[in-house]
Amino acid sequence: MRKAFVNLKNAFRPNSTYKDVIHKIRQDSVCPFCPKYLKQYHKKPIIKTGRFWLLTDNMYPYAGARHHLLLIHKKHIERFAEISPAAWQELERLVAFVVKKRAIKGAALIMRFGDTSYTGASVSHLHANIIAGPGGAKKHDPIMFRVG
Ligand SMILES: [Zn+2]
Repeated sequence: MRKAFVNLKNAFRPNSTYKDVIHKIRQDSVCPFCPKYLKQYHKKPIIKTGRFWLLTDNMYPYAGARHHLLLIHKKHIERFAEISPAAWQELERLVAFVVKKRAIKGAALIMRFGDTSYTGASVSHLHANIIAGPGGAKKHDPIMFRVG
């Protein structure tokens, strides 16, 4: 069996074509976050390119999110232990950069790693999410982040 770079079971998002996209990627048997294929699947501009990470907006932001950014590790890795100390430092700098650039008042920084049947990730290629809720005093539905 060919390696799966995406997990269709984790690709559900209400009112979104996301699952169809992940299904197509699964059929193509490619990794949508690897540099060779990223432009094919990801149409948002790259905000900043580091030595280890790409910073960009999520193509399929969670409903209600004021910001949903991705930090995609440039080299295909999946495991936590594969993140080098230098990559961690750069991740910190890129998060600080975008928090300032977008004047983000609050957000969650979330990274899944490893076997996607445990994590809820739809793409196994290691990436971090920066997700900010709508803020303000108005009532709104919570933004839920899938794990497992
Ligand atoms: Zn990849």
